[in-house]
Amino acid sequence: MTDIIRVEKAFGDFALEPCPFCGSEEVVYAEYTHGEETRWKVVCCGCMASIDPGFCRNKTGLRTRWNTRNGKPPKEKWNAMVRDGE
Ligand SMILES: [Zn+2]
Repeated sequence: MTDIIRVEKAFGDFALEPCPFCGSEEVVYAEYTHGEETRWKVVCCGCMASIDPGFCRNKTGLRTRWNTRNGKPPKEKWNAMVRDGE
């Protein structure tokens, strides 16, 4: 059983890229309990897409994961594929 205990806006050193799926800039960090532990995940408030490796005890690793998937946002990649006819 998991419970969200806190949600934090992403800004400053922990700023997050807009959601690559719905484009929402309402992307937040959520701290939640998992048994005795507390963990963090990133959640998009627009479409509820999330990154939750299941072991993040702090926000630093999460930020990197959210911001660097495939090196660039999928939307940008799709547009490039359409344009280039790949
Ligand atoms: Zn989204």
